[in-house]
Amino acid sequence: MMLIPTHHFRDIERKPEYLQPEKCIPPPHSRPAGTMWFIRDGCGIACAIVTWFLVLYAEFVVLFVMLIPSRDYVYSVINGLVFNLLAFLALASHCRAMLTDPGAVPKGNATKEFIESLQLKPGQAVYKCPKCCSIKPDRAHHCSVCKRCIRKMDHHCPWVNNCVGENNQKYFVLFTMYIALISLHALIMVGFHFLHCFEEDWTKCSSFSPPTTVILLILLCFEGLLFLIFTSVMFGTQVHSICTDETGIEQLKKEERRWAKKTKWMNMKAVFGHPFSLGWASPFATPDQGKADPYQYVV
Ligand SMILES: [Zn+2]
Ligand SMILES: [Zn+2]
Repeated sequence: MMLIPTHHFRDIERKPEYLQPEKCIPPPHSRPAGTMWFIRDGCGIACAIVTWFLVLYAEFVVLFVMLIPSRDYVYSVINGLVFNLLAFLALASHCRAMLTDPGAVPKGNATKEFIESLQLKPGQAVYKCPKCCSIKPDRAHHCSVCKRCIRKMDHHCPWVNNCVGENNQKYFVLFTMYIALISLHALIMVGFHFLHCFEEDWTKCSSFSPPTTVILLILLCFEGLLFLIFTSVMFGTQVHSICTDETGIEQLKKEERRWAKKTKWMNMKAVFGHPFSLGWASPFATPDQGKADPYQYVV
């Protein structure tokens, strides 16, 4: 089978008559309105469960190995509150990133009626996705895991078992930020714990035996370092791509810029919501993106 690169496909699909809507079979099970978005991908579900397990492991070690056995009550309460709040926000961001429709284009909408309803001017281009038979708005890409075209698709992330696109990028960025913060916080607490316990008697330092304590702390250190590096790099990359208004896919494909250039601050507001508020840091605040026409086609 010959593989045709997407940009070649774009060229041959420039005129409505090439769209061949009769070849598009409507999907047998279209998602009824109001149902939850969830990708049934075994690998993604496993990765999402591992993510939760790793956060809960960190939670267990921080609470039961370090904070609860500590005799410094104020230190334990303050650090316990901060760590639990950040871990809660990280898991809430994870859920919202996973369960929010990233901006899926309706499946099988490349019908004759729909194309006619667009009232295309001569020379105006529309793109049809051959895999999900949808008319693609500009900057949408097809994801083979989600089996859908996703508006402003950045990448498919198995850790959140979803695509990162126009509608859920905020939650994904918050997820990477809170995971980076709890990793850093856990590493600082492990550092203090080691320093403190070297000075004191190890048996008084933890309710577990000294070898078990050391193994649990070293594993937490390893996990914290790995995730601190991974998520802070991801956070930086995401913020950079939001500021420059260029998705991961567009950077990879070196796509030529067809959309208007806006200021960095405007681009941030387009993802996190208008106006700037505390809601930017909350996974529970749905951003008011003040979206432009979702069906923007290239002329
Ligand atoms: Zn598609
Ligand atoms: Zn996807």
